[in-house]
Amino acid sequence: MVKTNRYPVEQLEKRLAGAVLERDVALAPFTTFQIGGSADLFVRARTPDQLVAAVSAARELGVPHFLLGRGANILVADRGFRGLVIRSEVGGVRFLDDIRVEAGAGVETYPDLIQATVSRGLGGLHHFVGIPSTVGGALWQNLHFLSPAPARERTVFIEEILESARLLTEEGELLTVDVDYFQFGYDDSILHHRDDIVLSATFRLEPTPIEELREVIRGNLSWREDRHPDLWLYPCAGSIFKKIDGIGAGRLIDECGLKGYVHGGAGIFHKHANIVVNLGGATAEEVRYLVDLARDTVLERLGYELEPEITFIGEF
Ligand SMILES: Cc1cc2nc3c(=O)[nH]c(=O)nc-3n(C[C@H](O)[C@H](O)[C@H](O)COP(=O)(O)OP(=O)(O)OC[C@H]3O[C@@H](n4cnc5c(N)ncnc54)[C@H](O)[C@@H]3O)c2cc1C
Repeated sequence: MVKTNRYPVEQLEKRLAGAVLERDVALAPFTTFQIGGSADLFVRARTPDQLVAAVSAARELGVPHFLLGRGANILVADRGFRGLVIRSEVGGVRFLDDIRVEAGAGVETYPDLIQATVSRGLGGLHHFVGIPSTVGGALWQNLHFLSPAPARERTVFIEEILESARLLTEEGELLTVDVDYFQFGYDDSILHHRDDIVLSATFRLEPTPIEELREVIRGNLSWREDRHPDLWLYPCAGSIFKKIDGIGAGRLIDECGLKGYVHGGAGIFHKHANIVVNLGGATAEEVRYLVDLARDTVLERLGYELEPEITFIGEF
């Protein structure tokens, strides 16, 4: 039972620029893990105005809030989230000229934005095929991929094609910023350190023969198919831990003999030890148990202190 009387619901509702405030909404279906309890309050922000309105209202009324994208890099607690979850669904893909595209923060990079740009013979975003993400989430994490073909030798980051972004800043200002503002790093950007909200982003792409783009897409998808879980069969949040000293966490977890280890409905993926999968009906507690087990075992046996890449939302 949601105790909505702990929140200024009427004031919130008046300030949502037409978006609908929902109560007691299960979050599991909004995450790629398919795990997690309910949010007391939930709103879908479909336009930049609605996103600005929801975040500003929550900030000013002191309502705890979390901005949700595709839910591909988070684990939501079984007890859910006490406060307002704002789902970023800001759409809109607009080509500004022959090489630049602007997309709303809630546009899914894959398949929507990649399809739209590849079909125009524009390269850049195609490297990130097969990775679930919204535009906002991609900037938050500096989406990246070690492209197997033809650029196997290096990791491609989304910062390389970002030109500018429209933000609601932590201070409540509306600003257009360039790529330097984000101070991108590996799995890192200014968005980890400041409560800025991406409203839209503009990418500068490269005219490329479609056949060349298709070849990279085919290569990346088949690489993923061999090593990564299919989300339909094995819901998950991708890699759990960051690389450490350039070494993949999966290799270290595997060295400790934990690949394929199962706890309740959750398991360390049998093909890739840095991924925990929901084998059916897994709870967040069970996933958390495996995350802790992997971290503690690697520290004890190999001396590496693994740091999670995913964010834990709600009370654990
Ligand atoms: C099967 C699978 C494979 C994956 N492979 C890769 C991979 O190869 N490379 C890689 O880099 N990642 C990978 N990931 C991780 C994930 O896809 C990325 O981290 C993705 O960018 C997350 O985006 P999201 O929209 O789902 O964000 P969410 O998980 O919903 O949120 C993540 C964070 O972003 C913040 N956020 C979301 N929108 C905004 C916004 N508009 N403004 C400010 N902050 C915002 C949220 O508040 C939250 O803190 C994989 C995940 C899965 C499930």
